[in-house]
Amino acid sequence: MKKVVVLGAGYGGLKTVVELQKKLRGEVAITLVDQNSYHYEATDLHEVASGNLPASKILFPIADVLDPKMTTFIQDHVDKVDIEKKTVELAKHEPLSYDYCVFALGFVSETFGIKGAEENSLPMANVDQAEAIRDHITAQMKDYRQTKDENNLKIIICGAGFSGIELAGAVADGRKRYAELAGVRPDQIKIEIVDASKRLLPMFDDKLADYGVNLLKKLDVNITTEALIQEIQPGVVLYKGAGDEDGAPLHKISGNTIIWTTGVSGSPIVAESGLQARRGRVMDSAHLTAPDHDEVYMVGDDAAVMPPDGKRPYPTTAQIALSMANYVAKDIAARVKGTSRPGAYTYKSLGTVASVGNTRAFGVAMGHSTKGYPASVVKKMIMNKSLLETGGVKELLAKGRFDLYH
Ligand code: NAD
Repeated sequence: MKKVVVLGAGYGGLKTVVELQKKLRGEVAITLVDQNSYHYEATDLHEVASGNLPASKILFPIADVLDPKMTTFIQDHVDKVDIEKKTVELAKHEPLSYDYCVFALGFVSETFGIKGAEENSLPMANVDQAEAIRDHITAQMKDYRQTKDENNLKIIICGAGFSGIELAGAVADGRKRYAELAGVRPDQIKIEIVDASKRLLPMFDDKLADYGVNLLKKLDVNITTEALIQEIQPGVVLYKGAGDEDGAPLHKISGNTIIWTTGVSGSPIVAESGLQARRGRVMDSAHLTAPDHDEVYMVGDDAAVMPPDGKRPYPTTAQIALSMANYVAKDIAARVKGTSRPGAYTYKSLGTVASVGNTRAFGVAMGHSTKGYPASVVKKMIMNKSLLETGGVKELLAKGRFDLYH
């Protein structure tokens, strides 16, 4: 019986397993490896980081969706894939051999080597990191009661991509709670967002991008653009402003909570495995396999797929990871059954919506701009769809976002 090893139980990995279990009942032996016993909704990490939702609300046990007759789950850390020997090396278990390997180990926070970013700011790329941010903010607010240091009340978010914007909105929702912890008025909690770009949200037209920026401003989030971050010191963000000469003194923003959301890269295990990649993303073949290794599928954040215009790869999202997983399961099923493989992978985005707090969002869905409260409903529906696709009805009912009325 053919052996399929799936690495990672995020959107891409778990969806591949769920689909293979349906398509190849009794025809393959699947092994799924993840370092955690749970799958988490990475699109909701900002809700945990802000303290608005407990982590338990955005995760579910991987075992809940596995068919034990077909799939073995190993909880362990993947050290590397030996592409030539077709084996996966694990930290605490014997190596696994495979006929097909699905590489879906997700993303890590990218510091771009900026001095002090790793040591002095908080990344938000997994559940543990999101909980660490929440605990840090809580501790700062409590400390304020003793110190009366206004830096305890300042939350600085570095990078205003979707992650930074969604986090800023969630933190603004948490403001009242933080203020109670600190014993201050909510307007004394200062939220800053700092970004190198002149124009935020480049994927949207001017009108929609302005709408998103204004939503944040209305929530009293201070936005500094054209600020190229050069260094993070303890409690200080140092940046070069627009038009500053090289060597000119850097600008400073101080605050005791500095969160790093300037971008992500694919798993470092991609490079450990000797695969050619840019920022941890392998340029996939038409069948979503690594070049020259048709038995190794690269999915989600560890892969780059070019749209037909061939300019830049599609952005990494849960939506594309799920779509890739669907395709990969179909391709593996065809190969195992000996039928003809599907044509080249294509992707049609249903749109992108960013939330700004619990009741506001903006973006493009099914080709139309969507804004405000209705957009927040669309956003929750998108997240519920992802949850349904990986966890099924049981997890949707337990963990879905049905808080649509306020
Ligand atoms: P990103 O790359 O999309 O944004 C990073 C931001 O950081 C950019 O605006 C960039 O200008 C800024 N930046 C980078 N280096 C900087 C520096 N030195 N100084 C100042 N600013 C700097 O990263 P992200 O927001 O983490 O998103 C990662 C991926 O996940 C993207 O593809 C995104 O579309 C996706 N995502 C999607 C959703 C959603 O669909 N709702 C939510 C979150 C993330």
